[in-house]
Amino acid sequence: MDRITIQNLEIFANHGVFPEETKLGQKFLVDAELMVDTRAAGLQDDLDKSVHYGLVSQEMTRFMKENTFRLIEAAAEQMAEHLLLTFPLIRGLMLEIKKPWAPVGLPLETVSVRIERRWHKAYVAFGSNMGDRKAHIESGIQVLSEEKRIRLGKISDMIVTEPYGGVEQEDFLNGCLELETLLTPMELLAVLQKAEQKEKRERLVHWGPRTLDLDLLFYDDEILEEPELAVPHPEIQKRRFVLEPLAQIAPYKVHPLLKKRVTELLSELED
Ligand code: ATP
Ligand code: CA
Ligand code: CA
Repeated sequence: MDRITIQNLEIFANHGVFPEETKLGQKFLVDAELMVDTRAAGLQDDLDKSVHYGLVSQEMTRFMKENTFRLIEAAAEQMAEHLLLTFPLIRGLMLEIKKPWAPVGLPLETVSVRIERRWHKAYVAFGSNMGDRKAHIESGIQVLSEEKRIRLGKISDMIVTEPYGGVEQEDFLNGCLELETLLTPMELLAVLQKAEQKEKRERLVHWGPRTLDLDLLFYDDEILEEPELAVPHPEIQKRRFVLEPLAQIAPYKVHPLLKKRVTELLSELED
């Protein structure tokens, strides 16, 4: 992706662990590298199709001056998020906050924190087979939409499917959705679980009836093997109730481990 860069933006602000730092303030230097697709702006010579670096510089200055953080780690983290939420054309960024006058009592030029943050694309499967199934699912989606670090994308139809895993129970309503997020996979899982909890999801029988089940299918092309989080979700390729709705919203998505498209996995399913 193309980059728009801002180098050594000088900002006088009040961040630091020591009282003198927050009281007297000091000079910070900020570098930003904005991941922006500048192709359209370049061809049409149109600023509206790009990110205005003047406005970004103003916003960085305002943010650094209006907040007080003890750590430049915190300043960088929160400013990165603020910029990603404020400027939709910034897909990701590198931010470096330098402290030329860090009070360490030794001759150094600068200390700095440099981070990279960006929007990630994820796919989530939802299912319900208890009570008002549609209402549980809609309420779950509502919880996701209320998180500012999540932007909902396409949502599939809800399909009725027979239960899976041999437990005697009601039919399921299933579907999938696409989202963009600034959350890490674990943070996203926590939001999914919060939404399940809100619908009073109880884990009684494994694969048994539930008010709401939200599974993380894909997170970019990442492969995770944490005990609490396996991504891609290990069962995708075995489940018609996942692949069918997923094929509606992401037919060409390639499974990062199996190296096959969703439509291909669907057509290979045995009945
Ligand atoms: P399945 O994951 O086979 O669909 P399930 O959805 O019925 O089964 P749950 O009881 O909802 O299973 O979840 C059990 C645990 O699975 C969760 O506590 C969670 O930590 C873990 N887990 C691992 N990988 C994922 C994932 N990709 N999405 C959601 N939960 C996951
Ligand atoms: Ca599940
Ligand atoms: Ca689950």
